[in-house]
Amino acid sequence: MSRLKKTLSTDMSVLVRTEKRASRKNISLPNETSEKPAALLLHWFYQNGRQMPWRVIGGAHSNPYAVWISEIMLQQTTVKTVESYFLRWMKRFPDIQSLAAADLQEVLLYWQGLGYYTRARKIHECAQVLMRDYNGKLPPDRNLLLKLPGIGPYSASSICAFAFNQPETVVDGNVIRVIARLYGLTHAVTKEEIYEYAQKLTPPEQGADYASAIMDLGALVCTPQHPNCAVCPWQKICVASFKNLTEKIPLLHKPEKKIKNGYVYIIQNEEGNYYIEKRTKKGLLNGLYEFPWQDNDTHYPLFPADDWRILPQVVSHTFTHFHLTLKVVRLTLKTPDCPLKTGNFVALKAFKKYPFSTLMKKVAKLLK
Ligand code: SF4
Repeated sequence: MSRLKKTLSTDMSVLVRTEKRASRKNISLPNETSEKPAALLLHWFYQNGRQMPWRVIGGAHSNPYAVWISEIMLQQTTVKTVESYFLRWMKRFPDIQSLAAADLQEVLLYWQGLGYYTRARKIHECAQVLMRDYNGKLPPDRNLLLKLPGIGPYSASSICAFAFNQPETVVDGNVIRVIARLYGLTHAVTKEEIYEYAQKLTPPEQGADYASAIMDLGALVCTPQHPNCAVCPWQKICVASFKNLTEKIPLLHKPEKKIKNGYVYIIQNEEGNYYIEKRTKKGLLNGLYEFPWQDNDTHYPLFPADDWRILPQVVSHTFTHFHLTLKVVRLTLKTPDCPLKTGNFVALKAFKKYPFSTLMKKVAKLLK
């Protein structure tokens, strides 16, 4: 017992020195060695790491295409949700070639429900570039990956680490939390700052397993609430655990989301079909089908008609940067002619053939 106390007190005196250095922007490891924390973590990972359909533990043999698709799907979505989407996707588009040859509308249908549809469009575009310029393969080079459509710094690092076993530092929400606690960072941290700390811990080898391990530690042990420090491989070197600060760290800057209001228009023709159109406006939701809608506090009828009715129901959805609430406006046409010409009238039972955003799926639910 006294030996344990002595070890802990030695570790913590190192930590205090480390903290002082870190605060002077001279970042050091909690225990001043690069191998030990990584080795501790990897040891834990080989016993506790999560199995995932796209992950191969213990080597560099993960399928780069599977890693790429899973990484893009996992942005803003949980592993649990992504698994079923991923398996369905891989069954239909098992490789870059089949994805590149597919119709965009079908690709969007397979993405339907994951949100952020620009990602699906970029994946499709990227597959075509890979077929044209890279012999249908993802290049094992971060700089080349960054030139591809839809692959930003985070995805490029993830692909290099998980698919090519390179010593890349991957920083997601889990890693931010673990690193901020490990170093006892009580101020509002930025991703760039965490990257600097995390990079020092990344070992030169076993890039794939280490990147998976630190994410799994955040997901399974160093959880947002009530981290289970007792089973953590880094407990003896963790400042937050030692100082009882785990509930206060990390402190994140969260910009307040804007609140937007608007109207969505459900127009039914004499045959009982509904008017939908394909969104062509660049940006959010481009390429998906939708009922006409506007994010404006005032209701402007889409065309002159006597019986536009504002219904008591509203439909709400939260996007990355704002909350949107739409009041529902309904109209039944009394003539075969509709002044809106860019869309089509579609029977409710045929809606499944059209990719809708989650927001528009919520509107369609009101019709059932
Ligand atoms: S000891 Fe606790 S707070 Fe520190 S990294 Fe482990 S789980 Fe997180």
